[in-house]
Amino acid sequence: MSARVLLAWPLPVKPLASEFAWACWITRRHRQLQILGKDFVKGRLLIERFKQAGGSYFSEASVWFLDEKRRVGVLIGDKSYFVSADKLVLATGAQERPMPIPGWELPGVMAAGAGQILLKSAGMVPDGRLLLAGSGPLILLLAYQYLQAGVKIDALIDTTPQGAMSRSFGKLFGALPAADYLFKGLKMMLAIRRAGIPVYHHVEGLSAVGGEKLETVRFDSGKAGFKKLTNYELPADTLLLHQGVIPNIRLPLAAGCDIDWDAGQENWTVKTDEWGRSSDADIYVVGDGSRISGAEASALQGRLAGMHSALQLGKINNAELEDLSRPVLKSYKRHLSIRPFLDSCYKPSPRYLVPDDATLVCRCEEITAGEIRQAVRLGCTGPNQVKSFTRCGMGPCQGGQCGSTVSLIISEQLGKPMDEVGCLRVRPPLSPITLGQLSEA
Ligand SMILES: Cc1cc2nc3c(=O)[nH]c(=O)nc-3n(C[C@H](O)[C@H](O)[C@H](O)COP(=O)(O)OP(=O)(O)OC[C@H]3O[C@@H](n4cnc5c(N)ncnc54)[C@H](O)[C@@H]3O)c2cc1C
Repeated sequence: MSARVLLAWPLPVKPLASEFAWACWITRRHRQLQILGKDFVKGRLLIERFKQAGGSYFSEASVWFLDEKRRVGVLIGDKSYFVSADKLVLATGAQERPMPIPGWELPGVMAAGAGQILLKSAGMVPDGRLLLAGSGPLILLLAYQYLQAGVKIDALIDTTPQGAMSRSFGKLFGALPAADYLFKGLKMMLAIRRAGIPVYHHVEGLSAVGGEKLETVRFDSGKAGFKKLTNYELPADTLLLHQGVIPNIRLPLAAGCDIDWDAGQENWTVKTDEWGRSSDADIYVVGDGSRISGAEASALQGRLAGMHSALQLGKINNAELEDLSRPVLKSYKRHLSIRPFLDSCYKPSPRYLVPDDATLVCRCEEITAGEIRQAVRLGCTGPNQVKSFTRCGMGPCQGGQCGSTVSLIISEQLGKPMDEVGCLRVRPPLSPITLGQLSEA
């Protein structure tokens, strides 16, 4: 993949040799702020407040083990430790929803979130012909951030199904308390329009085509303005795909917390009460890791869980909890009010959730949707059986990328609800750990 580095910001960006790809650090903080927006640095302030409150903060730590007794195996640097806690707050965030289209395994195709992480953490942007495809606020945000960084976007391919926006208008009124999000979205859309980026709407039958690497992006049908397009093709070097984010529930699953299928958001959510308490009263699951609620609401939910666990541990009383939590709950509800509108607008098209037979679902083990359907025809009724039959989900990502697609395929094939089909079990190690590091535990 060819790429370039935004090194000496705000000087004009120069493409570097394509071999010297994706490699360097953002050096100008003010330029970083200009491109990524002030939300990006808010997290740093949260960490400072946490430290000031006397909490020990370990960055770059990786939790590779968790069980129902709240024993946590954590890797910090090269050392592994076991710790246990009376109360545990899990805040594992979101991961991108897979978008399995034909050819998504080709070099040159990657997730939009990965593109954004490279921009945020290393100031790297794709070089050559760049297409963004999919739906959801993040793809608009990434397009906007690329524009701020002076990156040329060759086209935006919007896979939001026709009628989704108009069907969501009824939910607009309920979203008004969080109108700032709506204005943010409008600002991004206007910037994209002003930049003259070609936008293709309601695109169906998207595929990535190439030999050794991505060469073209095709779609069966779509619209450009009022013009209907069929069997359309665009040359491309990089295709960034996105169709929303889903909760990263691996740690809650390892801890034995109950989950539910949310048909509105099309993802698993962790069952919690308003304080974030899961089916295990000593484990709180907050933020996007329990259900997609956005950055601001996630931080507020973390505070609510902290307050409630303080009550449970006898650090504050009920009256104090009520006083402390009242403004936080109010603000939390305001931020959540945008969700029904966003969830309805950007509900992914079923065609991009459940791919056709020839499309790879598990890219680690190269298992197609057809092979999964064949396993179901042979009698598999759930994703764990399909895993044993096909090795789907046994690769390096351990089903993190394909798990929800496998369950959806089984659900469709058997006509069974997702809650009955279930999800892939998680097993430690939950993240990579070497034998040497393990022996230190
Ligand atoms: C790819 C992507 C891009 C996004 N971009 C934006 C954006 O630009 N603007 C915006 O407003 N929102 C964005 N969002 C949404 C936003 O990140 C979330 O709404 C918000 O960060 C949720 O906060 P959180 O505290 O729940 O989780 P996060 O802020 O995501 O924090 C969760 C943390 O848990 C860590 N974690 C997970 N599992 C483990 C483990 N086993 N061991 C150790 N650590 C672990 C993760 O690495 C992560 O650091 C994005 C989401 C994704 C997935």
